[in-house]
Amino acid sequence: MSITPEGARRGRRLVDFVNVEGLLSEEEKEVRDRVCAFVDERVVPVAAGYWDRAEFPFELLPGLGELGIMGGTIGEEYGCAGWNNVAYGLAVAELARGSGSLSTFLHVQSGLAMAAIHELGSEEQKRKWLPPMARCEKIGCFGLTEPEAGSDPGSLATTAVEEDGGYVLNGEKRWIGNASFADVAVIWARTEDGRICGFLVEGDNPGYRAEVLPRKGSQRAAWQTHIKLEDCRIPEENRLPKAEGLGSTLSILTHSRYGVGWDGLGQATDCYKTALAYAKEREQFGQPIASFQLVQQKLVAMVSEISLSQLLSIHIGRLKDAGQLDAPTVSMFKMNNVAKARNIAALARDVLGGNGILLDYRVMEHMADIEGVYSYEGTNDVNTLIVGQAITGYRAFSTRPPKNPERDGKAQRAEEKPR
Ligand SMILES: Cc1cc2nc3c(=O)[nH]c(=O)nc-3n(C[C@H](O)[C@H](O)[C@H](O)COP(=O)(O)OP(=O)(O)OC[C@H]3O[C@@H](n4cnc5c(N)ncnc54)[C@H](O)[C@@H]3O)c2cc1C
Repeated sequence: MSITPEGARRGRRLVDFVNVEGLLSEEEKEVRDRVCAFVDERVVPVAAGYWDRAEFPFELLPGLGELGIMGGTIGEEYGCAGWNNVAYGLAVAELARGSGSLSTFLHVQSGLAMAAIHELGSEEQKRKWLPPMARCEKIGCFGLTEPEAGSDPGSLATTAVEEDGGYVLNGEKRWIGNASFADVAVIWARTEDGRICGFLVEGDNPGYRAEVLPRKGSQRAAWQTHIKLEDCRIPEENRLPKAEGLGSTLSILTHSRYGVGWDGLGQATDCYKTALAYAKEREQFGQPIASFQLVQQKLVAMVSEISLSQLLSIHIGRLKDAGQLDAPTVSMFKMNNVAKARNIAALARDVLGGNGILLDYRVMEHMADIEGVYSYEGTNDVNTLIVGQAITGYRAFSTRPPKNPERDGKAQRAEEKPR
């Protein structure tokens, strides 16, 4: 007999083999449990259907807005929840176990767009955008990647030319989440002096167009887009005043990368819980497959890695709260948790046998979604190189000198760091 997809997903989704509960404050547990309840009641029943149809679940936005998860660590003065980073991470992991597409929406709205406005914006920009974005009444996106500039954003080609007291933006952006329905797009473009700066483009600007990338096999319920900026005119006040070069962009990516690490933990947890429930009920050779040593070995490998990821995640969150988290450490965190999640999803899929490839059990959905996470917020390779540079002192991103030293100049060379 096999457990049904619904049966395999029943019950609380927490894994606590090493008593991580004892490491959390009451407030952190309250945040986690509230998001957990929302995910079980509202997200899980509908998420697979949206994924299947490649539709974005707009119906969940008001509920997400009430949770406080969007911009969760930003202060109450901007209409946000003011959680600490551990509470935010726990909330992200809960959302990710319910839907890897929805958590990707969150990383763009909260980890990238709101963070960029909060960290780099003017007081007016923050007051205008952050409160409605926290409530999900306004949606943001973050346009950095271009068709020819992925891991190397320092080579981006979108231009911002000063004209009539404002800027005219021209260029293309690729892979930009939420952009087809965004009210505000944070766009990174090169000004005439060669610097990379950030600009706010409103979604109804006639020079801005975003088309959804079709036929994705990962993150199907999140929409990534191709943006075209054609003589897109914006006023001077839409420039992010504190965005001074590529270093500013990368600081936002570092912040978002923190949330993405927790995403890997959440998706891995869901895969493990499904595999464990399935293995206890599925019988072959007259006994539950959970009683076979080889199946236990897989389950033990999963729970061990999840436990280590939980401990790392909480520690990294505490470092971030103490202001002691640097970029290479975040890279190691994202790289570790997401690569582990990728392995755990594959093991869980195996434990479910043929049923593992049925979308109804949702392990296959996580497996596919983790592929997207593996490549965004710095590919696994790029994060490896960031850590490699930190421990060896050698920069191994490129064996070539800068492409255009005359244009790029000294400032650009100093900025030329990978994401
Ligand atoms: C689901 C999804 C959502 C996304 N959302 C956004 C978004 O909202 N906003 C945004 O701006 N971008 C977004 N991205 C883009 C994402 O950040 C890029 O895909 C990522 O930076 C990698 O760039 P690329 O896809 O062009 O791959 P490439 O940079 O072309 O890399 C291809 C391969 O080459 C490897 N590689 C590249 N350089 C090196 C090197 N120096 N050494 C060794 N190996 C190297 C990579 O690791 C990879 O394996 C998203 C991507 C995905 C898949």
